[in-house]
Amino acid sequence: MLVRVSRNCPWNHCAFCPVYKGEKFSLRTADEVLADLAAMKRVYGDAPRTVFLQDANPILSEPDDLVTICRAIRELFPNVDRITAYGRSHTLAKRSLADLTRIRQAGLNRVHVGMESGCDEVLELVKKGSTRAQQIEGGKRAKQAGFELSEYIMPGLGGTRWSDKHAKDSASALCEIAPDFIRLRTTAVVPCTPLCDLEREKQFEALSEAQIVQEIRTFLAGLTGLTTRIESDHVLNLLMNLRGDLPADLPRLLALCDRFLELPERQRQRFILARRLNLITRVDELDAPGLLPKLDTLLDEIERENVAPETFFHELRKRTI
Ligand code: SF4
Repeated sequence: MLVRVSRNCPWNHCAFCPVYKGEKFSLRTADEVLADLAAMKRVYGDAPRTVFLQDANPILSEPDDLVTICRAIRELFPNVDRITAYGRSHTLAKRSLADLTRIRQAGLNRVHVGMESGCDEVLELVKKGSTRAQQIEGGKRAKQAGFELSEYIMPGLGGTRWSDKHAKDSASALCEIAPDFIRLRTTAVVPCTPLCDLEREKQFEALSEAQIVQEIRTFLAGLTGLTTRIESDHVLNLLMNLRGDLPADLPRLLALCDRFLELPERQRQRFILARRLNLITRVDELDAPGLLPKLDTLLDEIERENVAPETFFHELRKRTI
């Protein structure tokens, strides 16, 4: 059940993000939200099991309001076992531990943070509005307050220039935070975003699909000793099966990256095309009856049009969102 606690995004400058551009941010009062909850109770009864507080950063609401709203959700919907909200690390780092703990005790139990990168150069390039230090501080404070913490990382966000540093700095920042979940969300240069302008002005050069997998491999290799869950649950990710519990599954995840990177070039192109067309999710599914001839026909057509396959894949990735 989606509960709108604030409208749009208070920051709204992230270069890669198309979501709330042009929309004005505002907080909603606790009374407005309580009225929504009463209406939702009439419609949904006791059915809701999970609740998501909207929009981009409800943690910015007054702590007392969040406590009131979370308590009301718990009272009205007794079968809810999880309330989740997005939270900017900048906001989490500014909230006192006492306030975050009160909100946690009132029933908000999971926070998703769009960390995107632990590398200051990348955070500055994409105007994330948070430094590496704030990301670490905000994440640690959320953990101290008792939240289940999920951090999003964006492979490819530093482009070719910062790829290696982006991978290593993000891994080392996450090792300090020790979140419960790390979620991969591959960068796409979405049309009409500032990242698109940066690409046009040659300040950002997108990675190839193989470079992104190599970057993810470097990132994962930097998570040694960390106990967390890796999730690859976004359609923009090439390798959707990069999922597992660290540290036990780390060798298996690295082997999945290696398996892709070691594919002969034509097989690699077939897999990327099939993934970007959302036909399959794993390399071994390339064996599906009749799939290879179809992919080869398309790849031959792309080549006849004098389009580099990588350019075509990049365009497909842009259009996924
Ligand atoms: S990524 Fe999140 S914080 Fe950044 S502009 Fe988009 S909604 Fe706002």
